[in-house]
Amino acid sequence: MGEPFMLKCIAVMTSGGDSPGMNAASRAVVRTALHEGVEVWGINNGYKGMLEDDMCQLSSRSVSDLIQRGGTFLGTARSKEFKTIEGRKKGLANLKKHGIEGLVIIGGDGSLTGGSLLSDLGMPIVGLPGTIDNDVWGTDYTIGADTAANTIVDAINKLRDTASAHRRIILIEVMGRKSGWLAMMSGIAGGAEYVLVPEVKFDLDQICEEIKESYAAGKRYSIIVVAEGAGSAVEMGKIVAEKTDIDTRVSVLGHIQRGGSPTVEDRMKASMLGERAALALISGTSNVVFGFDAGKVVSINLYDAVNHKKTLDPELVRLARVLA
Ligand code: ADP
Repeated sequence: MGEPFMLKCIAVMTSGGDSPGMNAASRAVVRTALHEGVEVWGINNGYKGMLEDDMCQLSSRSVSDLIQRGGTFLGTARSKEFKTIEGRKKGLANLKKHGIEGLVIIGGDGSLTGGSLLSDLGMPIVGLPGTIDNDVWGTDYTIGADTAANTIVDAINKLRDTASAHRRIILIEVMGRKSGWLAMMSGIAGGAEYVLVPEVKFDLDQICEEIKESYAAGKRYSIIVVAEGAGSAVEMGKIVAEKTDIDTRVSVLGHIQRGGSPTVEDRMKASMLGERAALALISGTSNVVFGFDAGKVVSINLYDAVNHKKTLDPELVRLARVLA
């Protein structure tokens, strides 16, 4: 407190795809700032709201009854206009109009890239990785990924029951955009026979042969988790049914993976990250993203985070093969 560089007014925003735990993170930013005597604003609907001057000052009560909720009370949106320099200047002017001196952005790769460009115009930015895809470089955790993985595992458990009853093959398509992380985590935790991810080449013909052999040896079901980035489970399902001649079903889980009450892990880590983000920003730090590495909060350079591609941990790939 009392440092000459300390910010007196900050804002928080969620952007891009929503993820469970974004509320816990926003709440932590708000309560931490207020605890330090700093004014805090909420920007509604991401960059779209910033450009429309849709923002308001928040109190401690504004974030009551939120920690258990999925989605994001601030709303989120996508904005093409923000991708233009004129758009970003307009957004910056709106922030300045309200005396906002720094911004916490909770979102995925795209949102953080937008943040780095806003920072180039002179607005201090601290980012938090908020996406179910767990595809932000420099952190092994992103807000919402654990809840989404748990939702998928719950679905796998249920689908396995019915697959076993009918001796079916079930393909389950899960989200993750270009990343196979969600598929890999939930596939391992759900005991899937195969996990198909964009990062690893696979041979569907060979998989079909192996499944036929396992059925001949008495197996009652086969679960194949397909990351959306690896291809369409519907199309693969047609091929599998034809090649194996075994009753095959496909379940595309879709947006159910984004919702729901956040897990303890997501609530705790989002709260820890939110506090760190607010404290860093008000004490004059900018251009960082806070994440986790080996269980500890770490700070990552914002430009590094958005300019590198995260790779799937080869250890997970190996483990999935060993245990299947
Ligand atoms: P996510 O943050 O989940 O990756 P998007 O990629 O859709 O989601 O990004 C969210 C928003 O961030 C976009 O609608 C846009 O306003 C902004 N954004 C994304 N990429 C850029 C970019 N290259 N330049 C400026 N703004 C961007």
